Amino acid sequence: MADKNKTLFGFDTNPTSIIPKKYTLDSKIHFRCHPGVSCFTACCGHIDIILTPFDILRLRKHVNLSADEFLLRFTTPTYVEKTDLPGVKIHLDKDGRCPFVTDEGCTIYSERPSACRYYPIGMANFHEGGQEGIQSEKFFFIVKEDHCKGHEEETEWTIKEWRADQGVDLCDQMNKEWLEIVMRRRSFGQQASMSEQAQKMFFMASTDTDKFRNFVFNSSFLDTYDVDQETLDKIKEDDIEMMLFSFRYLASALFGTQDLQIKEEKIKERVSQIDDKKASAEVKAEETYKELLDQRDMLAESLKNNK
Ligand code: SF4
Ligand code: SF4
Repeated sequence: MADKNKTLFGFDTNPTSIIPKKYTLDSKIHFRCHPGVSCFTACCGHIDIILTPFDILRLRKHVNLSADEFLLRFTTPTYVEKTDLPGVKIHLDKDGRCPFVTDEGCTIYSERPSACRYYPIGMANFHEGGQEGIQSEKFFFIVKEDHCKGHEEETEWTIKEWRADQGVDLCDQMNKEWLEIVMRRRSFGQQASMSEQAQKMFFMASTDTDKFRNFVFNSSFLDTYDVDQETLDKIKEDDIEMMLFSFRYLASALFGTQDLQIKEEKIKERVSQIDDKKASAEVKAEETYKELLDQRDMLAESLKNNK
């Protein structure tokens, strides 16, 4: 039976299916997946296929649907890679099969999601904390499941050749910043939880470039953040640029990175609001203290009178 989770990095892949060896781009493997294998499409069901923002964008354009419609018809809400970050996975049909699979194979093959392209080669990136400036160790590993007969084929590739053939490099490039956010959030563990409002914003920014664009251009967003004209021109028209911009926004909103700068006057306004709040809290505390003193005096007076 197929592994239940076909997650992006393979962290949740059943460890017994992983060959205990580190592979590099130059390592050679024997693998081939084609309509002639006895297991053809066996791996396209009973699995969780998490979609990255790039997958969603690419797929919804391919099937010519708005993000809303695509998400509704083809996905199910989920949390991404054991975090509290909301995302989506492919919604399987009543038989537990991917809605894009037929007996002839994948009907969206040229646009298939990142997770389908990576399989069966996982990538480990020991930089889970996502701290800036820390060198990460990257290597590959092979997932070898009993049902997958592709490993018995004779075709030999280096991992680099195989990845190029699967179009994985573009996915890596487009998913990189989003995955860094996910891994960074994951490193927080249970220590912090996101507000419902923040979760909604994360979901919108990472699944719907049209809604996020509307939010950027038709809310107080541009009064708050410093965005140069060149970037504004790009994100106005280009969905990929909009998606990449949303990653910068999410990183800065979630972790306080300097990817997007808040305008100087907004910072001053906020500091003055905090000062006002502090001043009014101090006045309130003083009033409460005086009330307590008065109450204590009244109590002392009444005790004296009752003697
Ligand atoms: S998207 Fe294509 S390759 Fe991926 S599970 Fe569905 S049918 Fe299989
Ligand atoms: S060879 Fe492996 S990847 Fe290809 S269809 Fe069979 S199970 Fe899926």
